[in-house]
Amino acid sequence: MPPVIANSPSDLKLIRSCSIWRALETVGDVPIMLILEAFWLGERRFDGLQQRTGLLKALLSQRLKAMTETGLMEKRQYSDRPVRYEYWLTTKGRDLYWVALAMLRWEKHWGAAAAKFTVQLDHKTCGARNIDAVPYSRSAGQAFTARDVSWTHGPGMGWIAPHHSRRRKQRSDNERQDSNLLDMIVQVLGDRWASLILRSIFTGFRRYDEIQKDAAIATNILADRLQWLTGMGLITKRLYSENPARYEYRLTETGIDYYPVLVMLMAWGDRWYSTPEGPPLLLHHRQTGLPLDPVMACSCCHQPLAPDEVEFHIRPMRRTQAQIRARGV
Ligand SMILES: [Zn+2]
Repeated sequence: MPPVIANSPSDLKLIRSCSIWRALETVGDVPIMLILEAFWLGERRFDGLQQRTGLLKALLSQRLKAMTETGLMEKRQYSDRPVRYEYWLTTKGRDLYWVALAMLRWEKHWGAAAAKFTVQLDHKTCGARNIDAVPYSRSAGQAFTARDVSWTHGPGMGWIAPHHSRRRKQRSDNERQDSNLLDMIVQVLGDRWASLILRSIFTGFRRYDEIQKDAAIATNILADRLQWLTGMGLITKRLYSENPARYEYRLTETGIDYYPVLVMLMAWGDRWYSTPEGPPLLLHHRQTGLPLDPVMACSCCHQPLAPDEVEFHIRPMRRTQAQIRARGV
C-alpha cells in the first residue's frame, strides 16, 4: 500500500524521489552521455573515446573514473608492455541499452542529428531490416505513448535533496562533434534540472509555482530552463490568467515523445537502485490497467531488443562515406 505523502516540504528543498532522479544522478551528465554513446558505437580505448566525444583529456579521465565507481564500466588490461587498458560496459552499463534506443528514437524524430545521419537497425532475431525501436508495454502487448500511461505513488516514494550543478553546461562549438548521433537529446537528458522539470510536467504540474514547488528549483534556474526547453520546442507557454498575467507550460508533441526516454530511464533506475520498500512510482497501462512493464521492442516482431541481436548501420545524409571515414566515424 502506498504511504501517505505529506505536503511537499519545499522549504527544505526536497524533491519527490523517483528512479528517474536516481538514474539521473548516475548518467544525467552531458560528458557521461557522450561517453556512453561512444561505447555503443564500439569505442573501447581512451584515444578513441577522446576523439569521438571531443572531451578534454582531464574531463574524460574524471568521468571514466566516475563511471567505474558507479559501476557502469570497468577497465580491462589489453597490453602488458606498455600497460594499456580498454574500457568495457558492465552488465549495469549495458542495461542502459533501452534508454539509448529511446534516445535514438527521439533524436531520429525530432533532433538535429536526423539531418546528418540515418541509423538503420536490423534485428537479427527475426531477420527484419531497418526496424524501428518501439516503446512497448510487454504486459499489454502493445506499443505505448505518454497518453497510454497512468501513474501512482509506489511504496518506495519519499523525498530526497537534489545535488547537482546549477549551471547548464554548454559545449562550445569546438567541442561539438559532427559524429554525435544523439546531439540534441544528450543536451536535454544531460541537464538534470531540465529532466526534473519535464518529470513535473509529465506528472501534471503545469504552472510555474507548481513546478517550482515540485522540483525545488530556484526561480532563476527554473526561468532559464523553461525558456531553454521552450526554445528547444519541448514545451510551450500558455497564458491562463490575464490579470495578473500567469502562464502554464504544456508539452508539445516533441515533448510528449520524450516520455519513453524518461520511462526507460526510470525502469533502469528501478532495476539498479531498488529500495527494500519497492519502486517509488508505479506506471500502469491505461487501457488494460496492467503494470506497464516497458521495453524497447522491434517494430516487426515486437520482441524486446537486446544489444547482441541488433546490428546498426550509420549512414550520413549529406556527406559521402569517404568524408565520414576521414573524420573517423
Ligand atoms: Zn524483430
